[in-house]
Amino acid sequence: MPEIVIVVEVDVQGRTLGEVEADLMSKVRAALAPPLQAALEAVAAEVEPGTCPGCGRQRRRRGMERRTVVGLFGILELRRQRVECRNCESTGYPADEVLGLEPGERYSLGVAEMALFSATDISYAKSAGTMKYLLDVGISHGQIHRLAQKEGALIQAEWERLRRQVFELGDRQILAQLEAGAAVKDLVIVQADGTFVNDRAADKMEAKAGIVYSRKVQISKGRTWISDKRTYSGVEEMKVFGEKLALVAAQQGAFKAKQLWFVSDGDANLRRLRETNFPTAIYFLDLWHLQDRLGSALGDEGRGQLGGLLTLAVNGDVDGMIEILADAWAAAGQDDQRRQLLGEVITYIDNNRDGIHNYAKHGGQGSGAIEKTIDIAIGRRLKNKGMSWYRAGADHILALRTLKQNRTWSPYWAARRSRTSLLEALAA
Ligand SMILES: [Zn+2]
Repeated sequence: MPEIVIVVEVDVQGRTLGEVEADLMSKVRAALAPPLQAALEAVAAEVEPGTCPGCGRQRRRRGMERRTVVGLFGILELRRQRVECRNCESTGYPADEVLGLEPGERYSLGVAEMALFSATDISYAKSAGTMKYLLDVGISHGQIHRLAQKEGALIQAEWERLRRQVFELGDRQILAQLEAGAAVKDLVIVQADGTFVNDRAADKMEAKAGIVYSRKVQISKGRTWISDKRTYSGVEEMKVFGEKLALVAAQQGAFKAKQLWFVSDGDANLRRLRETNFPTAIYFLDLWHLQDRLGSALGDEGRGQLGGLLTLAVNGDVDGMIEILADAWAAAGQDDQRRQLLGEVITYIDNNRDGIHNYAKHGGQGSGAIEKTIDIAIGRRLKNKGMSWYRAGADHILALRTLKQNRTWSPYWAARRSRTSLLEALAA
């Protein structure tokens, strides 16, 4: 069993802690790579050629080859066997398989994890600078970008596989398994919204996010913390997004909760998403969007009516609201612009009847939680000044950011290292 033992000599006498630390750090780093490389080569030397994954025949040794891995402890040059199957002529590297070194990947998983941990919050270029400064690991911004695409695609592929099984192959058993672990909650709330991100290939694309939560905890006056919030976000069609959000919701026990609420800004696509994927949910139109829409339709001269309209809204009296707005429309006479705005807000209210009706029983509801999530999950990384993205690139970085938001970052990387189920880690 190869061991890694290093001895470093560091002078402590008469030196500051700062000096000792700096000295120790560089010496430990420099001392680690050679014995680590030797230990890995010793493991590699013991690995048997094994059988061919294609045809099951015994493989034969075909000589040594070198492979370079940029790891957390420096650059490792590993010599390991190449093997070949005589039957189907396939070749392989059994030591790579044992050590979990992915074909063609130059960076260790540790390097990937550290680089992406910062790249989810700061630009790829800054992340590369951080890697160099903090860990003395040389990796370019282009390589971190590539790693982000690779990991983001892995995460999205897990969700996509699950989505296909449930929504395209109709495997409801999987949905039941997802739900099985969740507690029966009194109330689960789902909110969804979208935001436009600059598209490098076209003009704009919509990034979407949804949250699922069940409890609000008051942490101090006026500040609440949503304790079990789960976020899903991606750049994809509304149908696919809605189905994935439903999977996250199922995992949180949304469909077996005593009550399920859905809050959105009244957008037609989100209303359809609610009807399709959350048919049992009680729908609420975000009260602040309603107030905004009413305010701009009424204009300065009509602003006096806003309070009365909102009182009718919280009482769930949609017909009463439409009556007042229809009178205002009639009174607007020749003011075509005013008439148009009033006509639009009447349609908006009519389309969101249920979302207003339900205020009467449960109180007015706001979508502040999803708006904050959109800003944190999407805005702060994707919408900085001068930024534009390719669709896949935006989707992948969102998948990685969401890991952090959901506190599944560490379980995800632990699963990557041990090659266990990523989906279990994502659902942790
Ligand atoms: Zn073979």
